[in-house]
Amino acid sequence: MSRILITGGAGFIGVNLCKKLLRQGHEVIAVDNFITSTDNNIKLLLSNSKFRFIKQDITKPISNFIRRIGGSNFKYIYHLACPTGVPNLIKLAKEMLLTCSLGTRNVLELARIHSAKVLFTSSSEVYGDPQASPQTEDYTGNVDPVGIRSPYEEGKRFSESLIQVYVRKYNLKAKIVRVFNTYGSYVALNDSRVVPRFLRQALGNKPLTVEGKGLQTRTFCYVDDLVDGLLLVMKKGKKGEVYNLGSDKEIRIIDLAKLIIKVTRSKSGIVFVERPAHDHKRRFPSLEKVEKLGWRQKTALEKGLQKTLRWHITSK
Ligand code: UDP
Repeated sequence: MSRILITGGAGFIGVNLCKKLLRQGHEVIAVDNFITSTDNNIKLLLSNSKFRFIKQDITKPISNFIRRIGGSNFKYIYHLACPTGVPNLIKLAKEMLLTCSLGTRNVLELARIHSAKVLFTSSSEVYGDPQASPQTEDYTGNVDPVGIRSPYEEGKRFSESLIQVYVRKYNLKAKIVRVFNTYGSYVALNDSRVVPRFLRQALGNKPLTVEGKGLQTRTFCYVDDLVDGLLLVMKKGKKGEVYNLGSDKEIRIIDLAKLIIKVTRSKSGIVFVERPAHDHKRRFPSLEKVEKLGWRQKTALEKGLQKTLRWHITSK
């Protein structure tokens, strides 16, 4: 069994990853500063003697902090920490950039000290508003470096660049996963992402706020499948390689709204609201590379939404 560090361990994907690794019997140390999460989900894990939590901002040096908790070296580091969510593109813009620069540098230095293997969760946002579909990993994207979305887009791109430097210069065993839209249990109850937002609206019998005409598309991956993919890339992915991870079943946002109304059996209608100018039209990954490693999406959207709905109802 291995000792594993997870940055952003209290976040939506982080908590799901902690839970899975603990179930497999690993020792898990999670770091988070709760900038976009709370200790709600972490509390559920603290009863496990193999789990430890450190409240820490990773833009501050973390090596000393980690040294104090003692123990053997980390074998694996999953670097997930970064504020996300469209409203935070303005609210936490600076924090996004600093987490992706100073934070990633601190994590990579720690990985060098521990000779740890690293997996960095980048994002489909590195492709910006893509002009090529499906997006393959060698597509270099369409990003406005000074646009509203740039703190996240350019932040993730900078992290990717820095990781490749550590791979080339120090032979660090690091891989990059570009995460596409993901949904599921343990998301913050006020999360701005479209799936939890529509679910909350539908459960409250309030109109679902579709932006524009809802013709923009996304693909949605259930978080359990995503976590399986992260473990697989950590195990089988090649050093310095980039892997898209998510669903390749494209859906228009208007159709997602209708599906959520159906799944929740809600009386809600749909209201059309202004679509931000920076919203991306289409996001659709090529999954060839990760599928070659043996990954498959297992959970169909409707099934995953039902599972997520059950979680939303019980966690209220
Ligand atoms: N969206 C919407 N209504 C909402 C929230 C989001 O129509 O209340 C749309 C938004 O325009 C975008 C998509 O849903 O095209 C996904 O938005 P989200 O905030 O989940 O993340 P993004 O994929 O844009 O990063």
